[in-house]
Amino acid sequence: MGTQDIEVVKKHGGDVKAIIDELNKAFSDEWLAYYQYWIGSQIAEGLMRPDVQKELMEHANEELEHAGKLADRIISLGGVPVIEPKDWYKFTNCGYDAPTNPSTVELLKQNIKGEQCAIEVYKNLATFCHKKDSVTVHLAHSIMRDEVEHEQDLEDLQRDIAYLKK
Ligand code: FE
Ligand code: FE
Ligand code: MG
Repeated sequence: MGTQDIEVVKKHGGDVKAIIDELNKAFSDEWLAYYQYWIGSQIAEGLMRPDVQKELMEHANEELEHAGKLADRIISLGGVPVIEPKDWYKFTNCGYDAPTNPSTVELLKQNIKGEQCAIEVYKNLATFCHKKDSVTVHLAHSIMRDEVEHEQDLEDLQRDIAYLKK
């Protein structure tokens, strides 16, 4: 916990409890995104399977890193990261799309949708903390940059697959 950190947030009109709640929502999103990518990478089949599996696994690892950074921030603000996985479903903004169809085309579509939701989540988190909690604003921007890159990487694969279908 960071005593002065919390004081600064409060002094600038930040509602620490509300910020922790928003961070825990994003934290839940990241764990669900992690698993959606991880399991997708395991079961993928179809066009460009090796490339898609590699990219999904890379993204899984990066989502896990995001969860770690959010947990750090929650703890600095005196909060507790969600400790019960069941609660991920309660807090999530973006939900979980079970990859019931293992085709690479479907997996990409589902994960692109997830990234688009994540970009929105971090944009909103940055706005929510604007001028109140600069550390969280900075964190939201840095994670958002990764999510933008994730969307781009998946769309590139989607475009390459479209060539194969021609
Ligand atoms: Fe993420
Ligand atoms: Fe992502
Ligand atoms: Mg990537």
